[in-house]
Amino acid sequence: MKIPFLDFKGMHDPIQASLIAAATRVIQSNWYIAGAELQKFEAAYAAFNETQFTIGAGNGLDALKIALHTLDIEAGDEVIIPSNTYIATALAVTQTEGRPVLIEPDPETYNINPALIEAAITSRTRFIMPVHLYGQPCQMDLITEIAKTHGLYVIEDNAQAQGARFKGIKTGAWGHINATSFYPGKNIGALGDGGALTTNDVTLATKARSWGNYGSQKKYFNEYKGYNSRLDEIQAALLSVKLIQLDQWNRERQEIAANYDKAFSNLEWLHTPIIASGAESVYHLYVIRTSFRDALQSHLNAHGIGTLIHYPIPIHLQEAYTDSGWQKGQFPIAEQLSKEVLSLPIYPGLTSNQQDYVIEKILNFQR
Ligand SMILES: *Cc1c(COP(=O)(O)O)cnc(C)c1O
Repeated sequence: MKIPFLDFKGMHDPIQASLIAAATRVIQSNWYIAGAELQKFEAAYAAFNETQFTIGAGNGLDALKIALHTLDIEAGDEVIIPSNTYIATALAVTQTEGRPVLIEPDPETYNINPALIEAAITSRTRFIMPVHLYGQPCQMDLITEIAKTHGLYVIEDNAQAQGARFKGIKTGAWGHINATSFYPGKNIGALGDGGALTTNDVTLATKARSWGNYGSQKKYFNEYKGYNSRLDEIQAALLSVKLIQLDQWNRERQEIAANYDKAFSNLEWLHTPIIASGAESVYHLYVIRTSFRDALQSHLNAHGIGTLIHYPIPIHLQEAYTDSGWQKGQFPIAEQLSKEVLSLPIYPGLTSNQQDYVIEKILNFQR
């Protein structure tokens, strides 16, 4: 049996006719940017996310940068981010001339540890950017409280958790303005690049839309040195089709996770994901942790099972950030995770036979 790490067929095949109809509709519409399809998707995603506004963007990285600009980031402003995240979170900060301040994760949930945030706040701190990693919401009640106390803005990086909730409130609805990504592999992905911002604040929504449209609200009048980063009509139309399925797809991911959890619960050499109280994960990834990671990955690969590592090199050790002053050993939890984590196949359409095969191969693994 061959089980790819990710396979879109289970998502796209059943809705293929609708996807083709949507693309065809746009091709024949004679209108390709900032039209009716975008408006329709933005309204639908805002409703899904239980926020008042959604603003499409070209991708998730741009959406994060637009969020920072919308809240007037200035050179040297400190932005608190987790040490264990995809590099885009840090790139958004440095590309807008901010200074990322890394905070270690909770060793159980792998999300930013709220208990470590206050000690990192200085007179230059202006933002906290929590990342709902692997689909699990951060402890947003605590983070929001800290931000309020210190007069900081919160920008959620919701690229991996569309549909998740913390204490009943959707991720992407907690921060002042929040960013998400519709990269194909996310829980809801475009068939290409895409992203969005979500907010309940009309002023921020208007400003964010301008920042993604050359800093302009009115053609040829430019208020900001903005980006060209918009969600195009074809992607918006395709995303509208996929959004209808998202809750069902997230439930499927949760069922697969529950199946894995149960199967691995007695293995003392393997840690299954731990979900914080109040958090409802949408399992963008199912990340196990073991000191036998590399051998296990080879074993699974030899049996045709695709896995990935999220992430093999922590941000502070990336070549791109050699100028940052960060040292090896400075963020030991992130470093340890990078050596021990392994992401198993989890996606809508992964059959119970396929799940059983993954489970069998892991239970058979000889250390
Ligand atoms: C995917 C991702 C992004 C960036 O999204 P793109 O659309 O690829 O630019 C940002 N943050 C996190 C946590 C991500 O997983």
